[in-house]
Amino acid sequence: MREYLSHYPRSDLAAELDRLRAARRYRALRPLAGPQGPRPQIGGRELLAFCSNDYLGLANHPQVVAAFKRGADAYGVGSGASHLITGHSIAHQALEEALADFTGRPRALLFATGYMANLGVISTLAGRGDSICEDRLNHASLLDGARLSQARLRRYAHGDPQALARLLEGSGARLIATDGVFSMDGDLAPLPALAALARDADAWLLVDDAHGLGVLGEEGRGSLAHFGLGPEQVPILVGTLGKALGTTGAFVAGSRELIETLIQRARSYIFTTAPPPAMAVATQESLGIARRESWRRERLQTLIRRFRVGAAQLGLPLLDSATPIQPLIAGTVEQALSWSRDLEAQGILVSAIRPPTVPEGSSRLRITFSAAHEMEDVDRLLEALDRAVGCGERQGRREPHRWAPR
Ligand code: PMP
Repeated sequence: MREYLSHYPRSDLAAELDRLRAARRYRALRPLAGPQGPRPQIGGRELLAFCSNDYLGLANHPQVVAAFKRGADAYGVGSGASHLITGHSIAHQALEEALADFTGRPRALLFATGYMANLGVISTLAGRGDSICEDRLNHASLLDGARLSQARLRRYAHGDPQALARLLEGSGARLIATDGVFSMDGDLAPLPALAALARDADAWLLVDDAHGLGVLGEEGRGSLAHFGLGPEQVPILVGTLGKALGTTGAFVAGSRELIETLIQRARSYIFTTAPPPAMAVATQESLGIARRESWRRERLQTLIRRFRVGAAQLGLPLLDSATPIQPLIAGTVEQALSWSRDLEAQGILVSAIRPPTVPEGSSRLRITFSAAHEMEDVDRLLEALDRAVGCGERQGRREPHRWAPR
């Protein structure tokens, strides 16, 4: 099935949109009438939501909001130019230093988004005639970065170092790229094995830890800290700020030479307006909270444990994941949409994730937890899932199955 519309003549767009509707692939926006949090206002109604990436509950934290206001008072709203012209402020510089310290690397460089960071770093380090190896389930921005670079993109089976080793034997590679925590599955990449293969092949290893930073490891230092890996093993670390850190933007952390090369060469860094300095001030505040307040990570683990025990008792088809991303596999697009609709009728928001975001036949509910959730929220979710998912699978049962959280 074709997913992209760009090559359609103008007159065909309406027909193409109808085709997407008929295939249940049409996506609709759901505007929030207030801040991000476990209970967003959507369509005049408060829902209990389990689908944001605000894992630590910092997107609407009063201290982060206050820092953003302080930043706007000091720097105004817009940065006014790209970093290399007059858009780079002392606030950006200070945040880059804090991120370098956080990741234990000589330098870090801010990008406007994670998508742009991945495009920029990959297309700077590889080009025509090179090859790039990527996990089959990597985030779209890592795959698009490889396409933009014009290198040959070779994809290995998900989480399978042996499959990568076979690819490397064939032709070598300039760069290996992987999610640290996979965005739609919640599992971790086998980073120690990938690092050993990258070293033997003399290839760059890039880890995009968008969903691990803030959540895993001591002080939330992410998947690399979880595995005890440093800059030697993983020379390129990409992190995003719009998830656990609750703001927006991204960074690449690595050696001085790597960062200087990106400043000179990465087109998605050079040819775009710098993010607002106030965002850097707010992120510096949220980074401090994320590092200090380890109770947020502990609470997430408690929520995850409670959910997984309850889901196992209900026999729900959960993927094996120890992170706040807990996918419930529906299979067909229709099934995922029907579960999501049924949950929403019960006041719970979990959006259905369909192809092309996930492979055909693996449509799912991507359930995510935040440190801002209460234990009772998990219980409500389980009861609603029992009605929505359980009814289809154990037909005829009227009362929700009783499960006992530990
Ligand atoms: N990498 C991964 C693994 C992601 O999940 C995302 C966001 N969905 C991105 C990169 C892109 O980050 P941003 O939203 O800042 O563009």
